[in-house]
Amino acid sequence: MQHLLDDIAAMAAADPERGVVASYIPELAGIDPNQFGIAIATADGEVLTAGDAETPFSIQSVSKIFALALALGRVGDQLWRRVGREPSGLSFDSMLLLEREDGIPRNPFINAGALVTTDTYLAGSTPREALGELLRFMRAAADDDSIHINETVAKSEFRTAHRNFSLAHYLASFGNLRASVEKVLGTYCHQCAVEMSCRQLALAGRFLVDAPLMPGLVSVERRRRINALMMTCGHYDGSGDFAFRVGMPGKSGVGGGILVISPGRASIAVWSPGLNRYGNSKLGTEAMETFAHRTGWSVFGVPHSAEGIKR
Ligand code: GLN
Repeated sequence: MQHLLDDIAAMAAADPERGVVASYIPELAGIDPNQFGIAIATADGEVLTAGDAETPFSIQSVSKIFALALALGRVGDQLWRRVGREPSGLSFDSMLLLEREDGIPRNPFINAGALVTTDTYLAGSTPREALGELLRFMRAAADDDSIHINETVAKSEFRTAHRNFSLAHYLASFGNLRASVEKVLGTYCHQCAVEMSCRQLALAGRFLVDAPLMPGLVSVERRRRINALMMTCGHYDGSGDFAFRVGMPGKSGVGGGILVISPGRASIAVWSPGLNRYGNSKLGTEAMETFAHRTGWSVFGVPHSAEGIKR
């Protein structure tokens, strides 16, 4: 496994086509695209890394997994009255379907749905309390109290969040927000501005792995459902392509991070800031395709790879 990760990091380092760094959040626009990291936390408690796996990055939409777990913890299945469970086939910040579908976002991973999720775990608390709860969840998942929010990134996004404000006002006009638009957006931008390294993110993802030694922060049923949503919606309009190429549930963020779960086996975090046309990490996606190919890991079949890497 270490050999495979080193190979993947070397291939990424040599790749001249690195994608395009997100520029609509000013603070993220200046990130060096020549970075790549990968980390795996296995079901038997090992952590292996390669490349820039200790460098913190902005997890952005990968945070929507933790937010969803928290919101489901608060209201359970009632959440599904306010947000759907279908892929949108549109970009992460699209407004198109909201009007036609009466302000019920397609799923909790597109921005509109994530704003409803944030509004749900924010209910009855101040943004500071709600974010404290979110950080506690992430820190417990990763067993790492140093995980924090980058205040500069949060403010930078808040100042330029015109599209997210539009989505939130639209949701509010349909009665699908409880807190004020400003509060929801402030909380959402801070949630997205959490920083983690690949090592921390791989550890934080273990609660979704479904194996005896992994942190049991959510029930088995909930874990499986979150994985199902990651598979169908975790990469926006690139979700079908990611399932086709990688065959494992994953969640991407515009910071260039991707968290991938191999149920029963491992939590894998990969990061490279340059994005493909769907807004998902270009080299991260390619690295995961190589990883899946070389290990034979897929939720759609048993491993039978040449290298035969088992659990
Ligand atoms: N904070 C980002 C936004 O709302 C998250 C989007 C993403 O990572 N895809 O635009």
